[in-house]
Amino acid sequence: ETLRGEDTPTPGSRQVPGYTYSRVQPTPVADPRLLAWSYELGQFLGLSTPAERGPAVDTLAGNLVTVTMKPFAARYAGHQFGNWAGQLGDGRAISLGELRATDGRTWELQLKGAGPTPYSRRADGRAVLRSSLREFVCSEAMHYLGVPTTRALSLVATGDTVVRDMFYNGNPQAEPGAIVCRVAPTFIRFGNFQMMAAAGELDNLRALSDYTITHFYPELGLPSPEVYVAWYEEICRLTAVMVAHWMAVGFVHGVMNTDNISILGLTIDYGPYGWLEPYDPDWTPNTTDFGHRRYAFGQQPQVALWNLARLAEALALLVGDVEKMRPGLDVYKSTFESTRHQLFLKKLGLTSLSPTEDAQLLGDLLEALAESEVDMTIFFRQLSHTAPALLAAPDPEATGFTQLLAAATYVPLPSPTHAALLNWLPRYINRLRQEPTTPAAITAAMLQANPKYVLRNYLAQQAIQFAEQGDLTYLHKLMAVLKKPFDEQPGHEEFAAKRPDWAWDMPGCATLSCSS
Ligand code: AMP
Ligand code: MG
Ligand code: MG
Repeated sequence: ETLRGEDTPTPGSRQVPGYTYSRVQPTPVADPRLLAWSYELGQFLGLSTPAERGPAVDTLAGNLVTVTMKPFAARYAGHQFGNWAGQLGDGRAISLGELRATDGRTWELQLKGAGPTPYSRRADGRAVLRSSLREFVCSEAMHYLGVPTTRALSLVATGDTVVRDMFYNGNPQAEPGAIVCRVAPTFIRFGNFQMMAAAGELDNLRALSDYTITHFYPELGLPSPEVYVAWYEEICRLTAVMVAHWMAVGFVHGVMNTDNISILGLTIDYGPYGWLEPYDPDWTPNTTDFGHRRYAFGQQPQVALWNLARLAEALALLVGDVEKMRPGLDVYKSTFESTRHQLFLKKLGLTSLSPTEDAQLLGDLLEALAESEVDMTIFFRQLSHTAPALLAAPDPEATGFTQLLAAATYVPLPSPTHAALLNWLPRYINRLRQEPTTPAAITAAMLQANPKYVLRNYLAQQAIQFAEQGDLTYLHKLMAVLKKPFDEQPGHEEFAAKRPDWAWDMPGCATLSCSS
């Protein structure tokens, strides 16, 4: 509407000065076939489940563009691994348009892997099955865990092969291609604003900011310099809430470049992400980042702050003074701390009574976990079940805490790595005793805060291996289980199991890189 789009882009990748997006058609694929569908999201959007092949799936593959769709690719820039990278843009993502959902709001449908755009630079605009499957499953898993995220509606095989010049099973090779249809109110990122600011396109910067505020932050009122400041603070707040959730579930995004950070505080661009198995702040799944570990688990809160500071520099052009943006960074810090605190208190079955003492208890737990080589998800889940016994008898042998450790640890028991955790336990038990509620109520609340099922790295990899062989049963079972991560779901324990030894070195668990 008010945004400047390029209507008839010339072919080939290039700089696109002066525009916010380019109109571009998806490139058809050989043989679109539906591999997976998010039933609940489809219902929410008012869409019925498509057949394996047909017009609906053709649309989800980019082969069929209806007259009401005006597909586009967005122009954005970004800092990659801390360095300014200039124009990037949607190099393989093409938005079909917006749909009014059953909530009365509009949701953008975007095809990832739909072919070249003016922003494809030297790449092919395609995505391989393994990376599309990973995005599809993880977006949905995060949603059901209650983590702010973009969604994924469909996973469609293209029938084409894609060659990646990166190591996979040891060699560059042709792999099956696939397209995910992602869904979010918008896919606008920090990098869209950075692009306009860096290019000195103040009119575009203002138009995009006004568009974002009026459509996605309407409660802030009509855009003005004061509203830009308030808006920035709200972005800081939402980003803090998102990262706090990541820290509470053990999610590592893996590529927190500013072009991969949503302006709505949603987890976006699932690439070389991973899930903590042993709790380890230093861990990253992204091979591209093995040297500096900039995007390791424990770095995420700091990196988000750094990214927000870069956004402040861009938006400051609308306000005239970067100092006015500074309070937003304080909002980020305090919101992150308080949200993480609240999330972890819930994980521990505590209601906040003495904030300082509890902060200490939490901090010491996280340090103990980092030393302990216990599986984060299993530890908290088992702790939920063990809480009543802990209240009844403080001796670790009698309480079941030893069994808990045995279930969760990656090192044989007994091991000195658990000393800090065993020292922490009596303090936790004392604190738990001050809770004004019943042991049963504590356990019930903890089971709602500590998922049994998360997308373990090796589970995603197994789903990929089966899918590449044409067997989708595992993927569909995994998806079904991940939709109820807090339910026991007896009979599905294989999806809650500690990483087996054979999975430690499997491709995808130990080695993932960007842009596959
Ligand atoms: P990512 O590392 O996935 O966040 O991508 C960084 C930039 O590279 C974005 O502008 C992407 O659109 C672009 N890009 C990544 N993969 C491809 C691809 N296969 N074809 C074209 N552009 C790509
Ligand atoms: Mg990206
Ligand atoms: Mg990506």
